[in-house]
Amino acid sequence: MIQITMPLNFLGTVYREIRQALVDMGEMFDLLDQPPDVRDTPGAPALQVKGGTVDLDRVSFGYDPARPILRDVSLRIGAGETVAIVGPSGSGKSTIGRLLFRFYDVTGGALRIDGQDVRDVTLSSLHGAIGVVPQDTVLFNDTIAYNIAYGREGASRAEVEAAARAARIHDFILSLPEGYDTAVGERGLKLSGGEKQRVGIARTLLKNPPILLLDEATSALDTQTEQSIQDELRAAGEGRTVLTIAHRLSTVVDADRIVVLEAGRIIEEGTHAALLARGGKYAAMWSRQRATSDEV
Ligand code: ADP
Ligand code: MG
Repeated sequence: MIQITMPLNFLGTVYREIRQALVDMGEMFDLLDQPPDVRDTPGAPALQVKGGTVDLDRVSFGYDPARPILRDVSLRIGAGETVAIVGPSGSGKSTIGRLLFRFYDVTGGALRIDGQDVRDVTLSSLHGAIGVVPQDTVLFNDTIAYNIAYGREGASRAEVEAAARAARIHDFILSLPEGYDTAVGERGLKLSGGEKQRVGIARTLLKNPPILLLDEATSALDTQTEQSIQDELRAAGEGRTVLTIAHRLSTVVDADRIVVLEAGRIIEEGTHAALLARGGKYAAMWSRQRATSDEV
């Protein structure tokens, strides 16, 4: 009996971890077809998060060594700070998120959380410390309670409801035919983009990670839904270190700092006001997005 159940338990754990990692990745990474060849170093300790300072120290990276994607990127996000990364499509924004999650290893420099190189700690502890709200929250074919509880194994119904309240989806859930036990996902009730995103936020709030990674979390939504979800995301970011990747600049004006990435390099950095005053790339992007008013 033991001989059978032990490997099965082990497989169960591995399966859960992989599944959790996939959920965290969501569609944010768009590259689930490419399995990670990144592993724990033998005997690696768990990440010890103190404040959640994220430090990119002269990071270089390329998916293909012949084609550098990030070049000498240095960026420090202090504990509790919100930093936004903006820049043209393909400039390497999402790649920074993938490196933070250690989906890939840097090819030069180092990426540290509270002084610990992400390569020197266990992947499970690293993934436990980072909450991802992707562009498109993936729902399982299961109850809405399960979909939220997935943020943290063993969460009670009361905790699930508290997270749903904070993500402002609780009242909506109560209005469903079977409340929290309503089946959702492809084979259940289809939720709107905004509702799915709120489920994703509730899931992340339940996980309660010290570091939050938002990769164009609201760019799939219409402008009005985006505005209201932004409020929830701002609240979710209170007391956490937040790295937010944004397409619509209107969502980053309140960031403590904005970093402009172009072709894998940081070309400008500052507050919204400072970058506008500078009259550089950011200011040009801002006026371009103002012109197409739907985008701002
Ligand atoms: P952004 O998020 O700023 O739009 P990404 O970080 O996703 O940009 O991508 C940066 C560059 O890396 C792009 O040129 C993209 O085509 C390339 N890239 C992204 N993922 C992969 C991958 N898995 N393999 C090879 N190249 C990739
Ligand atoms: Mg991207």
